[in-house]
Amino acid sequence: MKRNRKVKILATLGPASSEEEMIQKLHEAGADLFRINMSHASHEMMRTLIQRIRNVEQRSGRPIGILADLQGPKLRVGKFAAGKVDLVPGQTFTLDNKEEPGDNTRVFLPHPEILEAVQPGHRLLIDDGRLHLRADRTDGKSIVCTVVAGTKISDRKGVSLPDTLLGVGALTEKDRADLDAVLETDEVDWVALSFIQRPEDLSEVRKVSRGRVGLMSKIEKPQAIERIDEIIELSDALMVARGDLGVEMPLEAVPGLQKQLIRACRRAGKPVVVATQMLESMISAPVPTRAEVSDVATAVFEGADAVMLSAESASGEYPVEAVTTMASIASKVERDPHYPGIIYAQRTPPEATGADAISLAAHQIAETLQLSAIVCYTSSGTTGLRAARERPQVPVLALSPVIQTARRLSVVWGLHSVVTSDATDLDDMVNRACRIVAAEGFGKPGDRVIISAGVPLGTPGATNMLRIAYIGSDGLSGV
Ligand code: PGA
Ligand code: MN
Repeated sequence: MKRNRKVKILATLGPASSEEEMIQKLHEAGADLFRINMSHASHEMMRTLIQRIRNVEQRSGRPIGILADLQGPKLRVGKFAAGKVDLVPGQTFTLDNKEEPGDNTRVFLPHPEILEAVQPGHRLLIDDGRLHLRADRTDGKSIVCTVVAGTKISDRKGVSLPDTLLGVGALTEKDRADLDAVLETDEVDWVALSFIQRPEDLSEVRKVSRGRVGLMSKIEKPQAIERIDEIIELSDALMVARGDLGVEMPLEAVPGLQKQLIRACRRAGKPVVVATQMLESMISAPVPTRAEVSDVATAVFEGADAVMLSAESASGEYPVEAVTTMASIASKVERDPHYPGIIYAQRTPPEATGADAISLAAHQIAETLQLSAIVCYTSSGTTGLRAARERPQVPVLALSPVIQTARRLSVVWGLHSVVTSDATDLDDMVNRACRIVAAEGFGKPGDRVIISAGVPLGTPGATNMLRIAYIGSDGLSGV
């Protein structure tokens, strides 16, 4: 299956998309990898979803990435007897320590330390700021609030406290247990870390995961922005988590931050995902708003690696339509005459390494000679990442003997990964590359490709060779 776009689509799975048939439909519609939200999925559900994704992967023959998103120190209210309630601005509403279903006067807040830390006058922003409460009275066991704005609250909605000082670490007990369960499956490619504030916040997960998963830092706190370069350095990828970012920071700061983060990641050659409310209205409508289309387009024009769907695919009424819409916006933007110019304007010079020099040369040769594809052999994924950093308009195939690498690269801009065993010699390497380009639909007999690899074959991190080859008349060999 060949996609006609560079940007990747990350779709969150949930009640609307947990059946295997639906996961398959989302993949066919364009989802390149899937997010399992550990805030909502039980360990059993996570394992079930992983199995279903792997079944879809097997049938499609395409490597599919799986991202497990750890909740982090996100505060949430408990549940309601009716699932949701309506509130009226001006009314009183209480958060308390009673572990009982809520109603339109109160709800359980399962965080004793917060009940103690909030002071009268502090703001409590619920559901990404849709409901605004002001604390009037607190006694350590409950916070009596006035509803300032908003009219709805439902089960397990998030609570942000921009005025309250919280001494929380990066991993909660729940995160540690979730991470153990995630690593135990041995099938998860990325772990996302929520609400990280400092570079140190990554170290525990890094230590526990020992390279078995890529670490994606979700940028949703002002503190993280302050130390962004160090955080990028220690992360394998970033997510512009606009939901919480837009609650923790002024909303109007988010578009600029999005640009800043995308550019910083492109410079570093680390994948960056733009997330949240991209097609929000499609939760309940089969078509998006003009503003949403423009929002997805902006992320694509900036050269983000992936765009994400949250509730649109996890719990909305139109999950397949949301993926289809995202895919068609992306392909249209990428065919826009302004697109190459805008993408290239953000390009940064290569670093002084063999991999970057080769990636740049491959890109230039491919464009000068109008080749059909750039093929890079990559076992750890690094060469693939450096090739993508160039943002070439020519298709890039990343060939890897390691299925985990191929899956992990599913989030990366423009990479079409294929699992293939290591080539035995140079001829085999060229023939194999040509055969795969033809078989995957990126070229036909007589077309030319450029191949990058490390020689001697199988030495990781030693990209040092470029070779131009013709796809032979049988489509099976290179000449
Ligand atoms: P969440 O993260 O959906 O897990 O909250 C994304 C965001 O905050 O934008
Ligand atoms: Mn978030």
